[in-house]
Amino acid sequence: MQDCVFCLISNKKIPSEIVYEDDELIAFKDNNPEAPVHILIIPKKHIPSLMELNDCDMHLMPKIFDTARKLAREFKIDKSGFRLVCNCGKDGGQSVGHMHFHLLGGRAFKWPPG
Ligand code: 5GP
Ligand code: ZN
Repeated sequence: MQDCVFCLISNKKIPSEIVYEDDELIAFKDNNPEAPVHILIIPKKHIPSLMELNDCDMHLMPKIFDTARKLAREFKIDKSGFRLVCNCGKDGGQSVGHMHFHLLGGRAFKWPPG
């Protein structure tokens, strides 16, 4: 998708602070962080949202979760705790139409979310 900001990031057309990359995933720091650690984990393939994830792409989910665990250890939020969030659709507050997971940590979060 030519005008998708996360496709542009994964194709290195616009800069980002990449913290993890493999053949199918890329993770980079959110440019408007809501916590001391705020990393976005995305598939390189343009999948608009969790609801558009099809059976062929389902193997990405355990990879994303495992990457979140690795990054949590690397950024030292594995013991203090963290949130892994996927905003989906309008009411979920999704603003970028390319599926992504927020890894947030380094401070305590409230529940329920606003
Ligand atoms: P959403 O609201 O869709 O769940 O989250 C989108 C996230 O992407 C937001 O936290 C926002 O700060 C982040 N974001 C949007 N554009 C860019 C960008 O160009 N670079 C980076 N690093 N993050 C972005
Ligand atoms: Zn995209």
